Amino acid sequence: MDPFGRHITYLRVSVTDRCNFRCVYCMAEQMTFLPRKDLLTLGELDRVCSAFIRRGVRKLRVTGGEPLVRKNIMQLFKTLSRHLDSGDLEELTLTTNGSELGKHAEDLAALGVRRVNVSIDTLDPQKFKEVTRWGELEVVLDSIAKAEAAGLQVKINAVALKGVNENEIEDLIGFAHGRGADLTLIEAMPLGDVGQSRVDQYLPLSVVRERLMERFTLEESSYRTGGPARYVRIKETGGRLGFITPMTHNFCESCNRVRLTCTGTLYMCLGQEDAVDLRFPVRASADDALLDTAIERAIASKPKGHDFIIDRSTTQPSVGRHMNTTGG
Ligand code: SAM
Repeated sequence: MDPFGRHITYLRVSVTDRCNFRCVYCMAEQMTFLPRKDLLTLGELDRVCSAFIRRGVRKLRVTGGEPLVRKNIMQLFKTLSRHLDSGDLEELTLTTNGSELGKHAEDLAALGVRRVNVSIDTLDPQKFKEVTRWGELEVVLDSIAKAEAAGLQVKINAVALKGVNENEIEDLIGFAHGRGADLTLIEAMPLGDVGQSRVDQYLPLSVVRERLMERFTLEESSYRTGGPARYVRIKETGGRLGFITPMTHNFCESCNRVRLTCTGTLYMCLGQEDAVDLRFPVRASADDALLDTAIERAIASKPKGHDFIIDRSTTQPSVGRHMNTTGG
Protein backbone atom coordinates (compact mmCIF):
# COMPACT_ATOMS: atom_id res chain seq x y z
CA MET A 1 0.00 0.00 0.00
CA ASP A 2 1.32 3.46 -0.84
CA PRO A 3 1.22 6.50 1.49
CA PHE A 4 -2.16 7.52 0.03
CA GLY A 5 -3.76 4.19 0.92
CA ARG A 6 -3.75 2.86 -2.65
CA HIS A 7 -3.12 -0.85 -3.08
CA ILE A 8 -0.54 -1.43 -5.79
CA THR A 9 -1.75 -4.58 -7.50
CA TYR A 10 -0.83 -3.87 -11.12
CA LEU A 11 2.66 -3.90 -12.66
CA ARG A 12 3.30 -2.80 -16.21
CA VAL A 13 6.60 -4.03 -17.58
CA SER A 14 8.31 -2.49 -20.58
CA VAL A 15 10.45 -5.31 -21.93
CA THR A 16 12.06 -3.15 -24.61
CA ASP A 17 12.00 0.54 -25.56
CA ARG A 18 12.42 -0.44 -29.23
CA CYS A 19 9.53 -0.58 -31.63
CA ASN A 20 8.99 -1.39 -35.29
CA PHE A 21 6.51 1.54 -35.55
CA ARG A 22 7.17 5.24 -34.96
CA CYS A 23 3.75 6.58 -34.00
CA VAL A 24 3.85 10.35 -34.35
CA TYR A 25 2.47 11.04 -30.85
CA CYS A 26 4.73 8.46 -29.17
CA MET A 27 8.19 8.83 -30.67
CA ALA A 28 10.24 11.20 -32.79
CA GLU A 29 11.27 9.77 -36.16
CA GLN A 30 14.92 9.57 -35.08
CA MET A 31 15.12 7.96 -31.67
CA THR A 32 18.10 6.99 -29.54
CA PHE A 33 17.35 3.71 -27.80
CA LEU A 34 18.77 2.41 -24.55
CA PRO A 35 22.03 0.46 -24.94
CA ARG A 36 21.28 -3.29 -25.12
CA LYS A 37 23.82 -4.00 -22.37
CA ASP A 38 21.69 -1.97 -19.93
CA LEU A 39 18.61 -4.12 -20.45
CA LEU A 40 17.48 -6.55 -17.79
CA THR A 41 17.80 -10.09 -19.08
CA LEU A 42 14.58 -12.11 -19.40
CA GLY A 43 15.63 -13.97 -16.25
CA GLU A 44 16.11 -10.69 -14.37
CA LEU A 45 12.74 -9.40 -15.59
CA ASP A 46 11.14 -12.59 -14.32
CA ARG A 47 12.85 -12.14 -10.97
CA VAL A 48 11.62 -8.57 -10.54
CA CYS A 49 8.07 -9.47 -11.65
CA SER A 50 8.04 -12.43 -9.28
CA ALA A 51 9.14 -10.20 -6.39
CA PHE A 52 6.18 -7.90 -7.11
CA ILE A 53 3.79 -10.85 -7.33
CA ARG A 54 5.07 -12.09 -3.97
CA ARG A 55 4.22 -8.68 -2.52
CA GLY A 56 0.67 -8.53 -3.85
CA VAL A 57 0.71 -7.64 -7.54
CA ARG A 58 -2.17 -9.51 -9.20
CA LYS A 59 -2.12 -8.18 -12.74
CA LEU A 60 0.90 -7.95 -14.99
CA ARG A 61 0.96 -6.25 -18.37
CA VAL A 62 3.91 -6.76 -20.72
CA THR A 63 4.45 -3.72 -22.91
CA GLY A 64 7.13 -1.53 -24.44
CA GLY A 65 8.16 -0.24 -27.01
CA GLU A 66 6.77 -3.19 -28.89
CA PRO A 67 6.97 -6.16 -26.51
CA LEU A 68 6.80 -8.78 -29.26
CA VAL A 69 9.99 -7.50 -30.95
CA ARG A 70 12.08 -8.35 -27.88
CA LYS A 71 14.15 -11.43 -28.72
CA ASN A 72 12.84 -14.65 -27.14
CA ILE A 73 10.04 -12.76 -25.40
CA MET A 74 7.87 -15.88 -25.31
CA GLN A 75 10.37 -17.29 -22.82
CA LEU A 76 9.32 -14.58 -20.35
CA PHE A 77 5.62 -15.36 -20.86
CA LYS A 78 6.46 -19.00 -20.32
CA THR A 79 8.22 -18.50 -17.00
CA LEU A 80 5.69 -15.93 -15.74
CA SER A 81 2.79 -18.24 -16.53
CA ARG A 82 3.76 -20.37 -13.50
CA HIS A 83 2.25 -17.61 -11.36
CA LEU A 84 -1.06 -18.04 -13.20
CA ASP A 85 -0.89 -21.78 -12.59
CA SER A 86 -0.27 -21.23 -8.87
CA GLY A 87 -3.10 -18.68 -8.65
CA ASP A 88 -0.76 -15.97 -7.32
CA LEU A 89 -1.30 -13.91 -10.48
CA GLU A 90 -4.81 -13.24 -11.75
CA GLU A 91 -3.92 -11.87 -15.13
CA LEU A 92 -0.95 -11.90 -17.48
CA THR A 93 -1.55 -9.74 -20.50
CA LEU A 94 0.11 -7.50 -23.06
CA THR A 95 -0.30 -4.35 -25.11
CA THR A 96 0.92 -4.62 -28.68
CA ASN A 97 0.85 -2.81 -32.00
CA GLY A 98 -0.29 -6.15 -33.47
CA SER A 99 2.45 -6.44 -36.08
CA GLU A 100 3.91 -9.63 -34.58
CA LEU A 101 0.84 -10.84 -32.72
CA GLY A 102 -0.34 -13.27 -35.40
CA LYS A 103 2.87 -15.29 -35.00
CA HIS A 104 2.55 -15.61 -31.24
CA ALA A 105 -1.21 -15.68 -30.64
CA GLU A 106 -1.56 -19.43 -30.17
CA ASP A 107 1.45 -19.68 -27.86
CA LEU A 108 0.21 -16.75 -25.78
CA ALA A 109 -3.21 -18.36 -25.39
CA ALA A 110 -1.61 -21.70 -24.46
CA LEU A 111 0.40 -19.95 -21.74
CA GLY A 112 -2.70 -18.54 -20.08
CA VAL A 113 -2.94 -15.09 -21.67
CA ARG A 114 -6.66 -14.37 -22.02
CA ARG A 115 -6.86 -10.77 -23.17
CA VAL A 116 -4.69 -8.61 -25.36
CA ASN A 117 -4.81 -4.88 -26.14
CA VAL A 118 -4.07 -3.97 -29.74
CA SER A 119 -3.44 -0.33 -30.66
CA ILE A 120 -5.08 0.89 -33.86
CA ASP A 121 -5.70 4.60 -34.28
CA THR A 122 -7.21 4.51 -37.76
CA LEU A 123 -8.75 2.03 -40.18
CA ASP A 124 -7.57 3.96 -43.22
CA PRO A 125 -4.44 2.18 -44.55
CA GLN A 126 -2.83 5.39 -45.81
CA LYS A 127 -3.52 7.27 -42.58
CA PHE A 128 -2.31 4.26 -40.60
CA LYS A 129 1.00 4.55 -42.41
CA GLU A 130 1.16 8.28 -41.70
CA VAL A 131 0.40 7.86 -37.99
CA THR A 132 2.66 4.85 -37.38
CA ARG A 133 5.23 5.97 -40.00
CA TRP A 134 6.28 2.32 -40.54
CA GLY A 135 3.18 0.20 -39.92
CA GLU A 136 0.96 -1.80 -42.28
CA LEU A 137 -2.71 -1.88 -41.31
CA GLU A 138 -3.34 -5.13 -43.18
CA VAL A 139 -0.76 -7.02 -41.11
CA VAL A 140 -2.33 -5.77 -37.89
CA LEU A 141 -5.85 -6.71 -39.00
CA ASP A 142 -4.62 -10.17 -39.93
CA SER A 143 -3.01 -10.51 -36.49
CA ILE A 144 -6.26 -9.54 -34.77
CA ALA A 145 -8.11 -12.26 -36.68
CA LYS A 146 -5.44 -14.79 -35.68
CA ALA A 147 -5.56 -13.70 -32.05
CA GLU A 148 -9.34 -14.10 -31.99
CA ALA A 149 -9.07 -17.49 -33.66
CA ALA A 150 -6.62 -18.52 -30.93
CA GLY A 151 -9.23 -17.60 -28.33
CA LEU A 152 -7.70 -14.33 -27.13
CA GLN A 153 -10.10 -11.57 -26.22
CA VAL A 154 -8.93 -8.53 -28.16
CA LYS A 155 -9.45 -4.96 -26.98
CA ILE A 156 -8.78 -2.13 -29.40
CA ASN A 157 -6.98 0.97 -28.11
CA ALA A 158 -7.00 4.20 -30.08
CA VAL A 159 -5.42 7.52 -29.19
CA ALA A 160 -7.86 10.31 -30.10
CA LEU A 161 -5.95 12.60 -32.45
CA LYS A 162 -7.14 16.00 -33.57
CA GLY A 163 -7.63 16.18 -37.32
CA VAL A 164 -6.45 12.58 -37.77
CA ASN A 165 -9.04 10.13 -36.50
CA GLU A 166 -11.64 12.45 -34.98
CA ASN A 167 -14.01 11.74 -37.87
CA GLU A 168 -13.37 8.03 -37.63
CA ILE A 169 -14.45 7.30 -34.08
CA GLU A 170 -17.77 5.84 -35.23
CA ASP A 171 -15.93 3.58 -37.70
CA LEU A 172 -13.62 2.39 -34.92
CA ILE A 173 -16.65 1.67 -32.74
CA GLY A 174 -18.26 -0.26 -35.61
CA PHE A 175 -15.05 -2.21 -36.21
CA ALA A 176 -14.55 -3.17 -32.57
CA HIS A 177 -18.15 -3.79 -31.57
CA GLY A 178 -18.86 -5.60 -34.83
CA ARG A 179 -16.42 -8.31 -33.72
CA GLY A 180 -17.43 -8.32 -30.07
CA ALA A 181 -14.37 -6.34 -28.93
CA ASP A 182 -14.24 -3.38 -26.56
CA LEU A 183 -12.80 -0.11 -27.82
CA THR A 184 -10.91 2.25 -25.55
CA LEU A 185 -10.09 5.81 -26.51
CA ILE A 186 -7.06 7.49 -24.95
CA GLU A 187 -6.14 11.15 -24.65
CA ALA A 188 -2.72 12.06 -26.02
CA MET A 189 -0.34 12.87 -23.18
CA PRO A 190 2.63 15.27 -23.27
CA LEU A 191 5.35 12.62 -22.82
CA GLY A 192 8.68 13.30 -24.50
CA ASP A 193 9.52 15.57 -27.40
CA VAL A 194 7.97 14.10 -30.56
CA GLY A 195 8.89 16.99 -32.85
CA GLN A 196 5.24 18.08 -33.20
CA SER A 197 3.11 20.41 -31.12
CA ARG A 198 0.97 18.50 -28.63
CA VAL A 199 -1.69 21.20 -28.99
CA ASP A 200 -2.09 20.11 -32.62
CA GLN A 201 -2.49 16.44 -31.59
CA TYR A 202 -4.60 16.67 -28.46
CA LEU A 203 -8.32 16.00 -28.78
CA PRO A 204 -10.17 16.11 -25.43
CA LEU A 205 -12.37 13.05 -24.96
CA SER A 206 -15.03 15.29 -23.42
CA VAL A 207 -15.48 16.66 -26.96
CA VAL A 208 -15.56 13.18 -28.50
CA ARG A 209 -18.10 12.05 -25.94
CA GLU A 210 -20.41 14.97 -26.65
CA ARG A 211 -20.24 14.29 -30.37
CA LEU A 212 -20.99 10.61 -29.86
CA MET A 213 -23.99 11.47 -27.72
CA GLU A 214 -25.59 13.16 -30.72
CA ARG A 215 -25.53 9.85 -32.52
CA PHE A 216 -25.55 7.13 -29.85
CA THR A 217 -27.08 6.39 -26.47
CA LEU A 218 -24.22 6.07 -23.98
CA GLU A 219 -25.21 4.12 -20.88
CA GLU A 220 -22.94 4.39 -17.84
CA SER A 221 -21.32 1.10 -16.92
CA SER A 222 -19.63 -0.05 -13.74
CA TYR A 223 -17.41 -2.43 -15.77
CA ARG A 224 -13.69 -2.16 -14.89
CA THR A 225 -10.63 -3.99 -16.15
CA GLY A 226 -8.29 -2.90 -13.38
CA GLY A 227 -7.03 -0.01 -15.50
CA PRO A 228 -7.95 3.69 -15.62
CA ALA A 229 -10.61 3.35 -18.36
CA ARG A 230 -14.16 4.34 -17.50
CA TYR A 231 -16.71 2.52 -19.64
CA VAL A 232 -20.05 3.20 -21.21
CA ARG A 233 -22.23 0.74 -23.07
CA ILE A 234 -23.43 1.95 -26.43
CA LYS A 235 -27.07 0.97 -26.62
CA GLU A 236 -27.17 0.83 -30.43
CA THR A 237 -24.18 -1.53 -30.79
CA GLY A 238 -24.41 -3.37 -27.46
CA GLY A 239 -20.62 -2.93 -27.12
CA ARG A 240 -18.42 -1.26 -24.54
CA LEU A 241 -16.52 1.97 -25.07
CA GLY A 242 -13.78 3.01 -22.63
CA PHE A 243 -12.39 6.48 -22.04
CA ILE A 244 -8.89 7.02 -20.64
CA THR A 245 -8.79 10.68 -19.73
CA PRO A 246 -5.48 11.65 -18.10
CA MET A 247 -5.95 15.23 -19.36
CA THR A 248 -9.63 16.08 -18.87
CA HIS A 249 -10.35 13.91 -15.86
CA ASN A 250 -7.61 12.92 -13.52
CA PHE A 251 -8.01 9.39 -12.14
CA CYS A 252 -4.94 9.30 -9.89
CA GLU A 253 -6.94 8.77 -6.69
CA SER A 254 -7.61 5.20 -7.80
CA CYS A 255 -4.16 4.52 -9.30
CA ASN A 256 -3.11 0.95 -8.56
CA ARG A 257 -0.06 0.60 -10.76
CA VAL A 258 3.69 1.12 -11.12
CA ARG A 259 5.84 0.77 -14.23
CA LEU A 260 9.11 -1.06 -14.72
CA THR A 261 11.36 -0.08 -17.64
CA CYS A 262 13.45 -2.59 -19.56
CA THR A 263 16.55 -1.36 -17.73
CA GLY A 264 15.03 -1.99 -14.32
CA THR A 265 13.98 1.55 -13.40
CA LEU A 266 10.69 1.61 -11.55
CA TYR A 267 8.52 4.67 -12.20
CA MET A 268 5.80 5.11 -9.65
CA CYS A 269 3.83 7.50 -11.88
CA LEU A 270 3.68 7.84 -15.66
CA GLY A 271 3.63 11.61 -15.35
CA GLN A 272 6.37 12.22 -12.75
CA GLU A 273 10.14 11.77 -12.62
CA ASP A 274 10.20 9.87 -9.30
CA ALA A 275 11.98 6.56 -9.87
CA VAL A 276 13.84 3.81 -8.07
CA ASP A 277 16.54 1.64 -9.63
CA LEU A 278 15.82 -2.07 -9.25
CA ARG A 279 18.63 -3.29 -11.51
CA PHE A 280 21.32 -2.64 -8.91
CA PRO A 281 19.66 -4.70 -6.17
CA VAL A 282 18.91 -7.49 -8.66
CA ARG A 283 22.53 -7.67 -9.80
CA ALA A 284 24.12 -7.03 -6.41
CA SER A 285 22.77 -10.14 -4.74
CA ALA A 286 21.30 -13.48 -5.68
CA ASP A 287 18.77 -13.37 -2.89
CA ASP A 288 15.87 -10.94 -3.03
CA ALA A 289 16.33 -9.05 0.26
CA LEU A 290 17.83 -5.95 -1.38
CA LEU A 291 15.24 -6.05 -4.15
CA ASP A 292 12.38 -6.31 -1.68
CA THR A 293 13.72 -3.32 0.28
CA ALA A 294 14.03 -1.27 -2.91
CA ILE A 295 10.44 -2.13 -3.92
CA GLU A 296 9.20 -1.13 -0.47
CA ARG A 297 11.06 2.19 -0.69
CA ALA A 298 9.60 2.80 -4.16
CA ILE A 299 5.99 2.20 -3.17
CA ALA A 300 6.45 4.39 -0.10
CA SER A 301 7.37 7.28 -2.39
CA LYS A 302 4.62 6.90 -5.01
CA PRO A 303 3.51 10.44 -5.93
CA LYS A 304 -0.07 11.53 -5.45
CA GLY A 305 -0.63 12.08 -9.15
CA HIS A 306 0.42 13.59 -12.43
CA ASP A 307 -0.01 17.16 -13.61
CA PHE A 308 -0.05 17.05 -17.38
CA ILE A 309 -0.47 20.32 -19.25
CA ILE A 310 -1.08 20.83 -22.97
CA ASP A 311 -1.51 24.46 -23.96
CA ARG A 312 0.04 26.98 -26.33
CA SER A 313 2.19 28.57 -23.62
CA THR A 314 3.72 25.25 -22.48
CA THR A 315 6.41 24.23 -24.93
CA GLN A 316 8.16 21.55 -22.87
CA PRO A 317 6.66 18.07 -22.40
CA SER A 318 5.42 17.39 -18.84
CA VAL A 319 8.02 14.63 -18.60
CA GLY A 320 11.03 14.18 -20.86
CA ARG A 321 10.70 10.41 -21.30
CA HIS A 322 8.78 9.08 -24.24
CA MET A 323 5.95 6.59 -23.71
CA ASN A 324 8.03 3.78 -25.23
CA THR A 325 10.60 4.11 -22.42
CA THR A 326 8.22 4.09 -19.48
CA GLY A 327 5.95 1.55 -21.12
CA GLY A 328 2.49 2.42 -22.37
N1 SAM B 1 3.81 -1.07 -28.94
C1 SAM B 1 2.67 -1.36 -28.14
C2 SAM B 1 1.43 -0.69 -28.70
O1 SAM B 1 1.51 -0.10 -29.78
O2 SAM B 1 0.38 -0.78 -28.09
C3 SAM B 1 2.83 -1.05 -26.66
C4 SAM B 1 3.49 0.21 -26.27
S1 SAM B 1 2.63 1.68 -26.71
C5 SAM B 1 3.69 2.90 -25.99
C6 SAM B 1 1.22 1.57 -25.65
C7 SAM B 1 0.10 2.53 -25.88
O3 SAM B 1 0.52 3.83 -25.58
C8 SAM B 1 -0.41 2.56 -27.31
O4 SAM B 1 -1.81 2.38 -27.30
C9 SAM B 1 -0.08 3.96 -27.77
O5 SAM B 1 -1.02 4.41 -28.68
C10 SAM B 1 -0.10 4.72 -26.47
N2 SAM B 1 0.67 5.97 -26.46
C11 SAM B 1 1.94 6.18 -26.84
N3 SAM B 1 2.31 7.46 -26.66
C12 SAM B 1 1.24 8.08 -26.12
C13 SAM B 1 1.00 9.42 -25.69
N4 SAM B 1 1.92 10.37 -25.78
N5 SAM B 1 -0.22 9.69 -25.18
C14 SAM B 1 -1.18 8.72 -25.08
N6 SAM B 1 -1.01 7.46 -25.46
C15 SAM B 1 0.19 7.14 -25.98
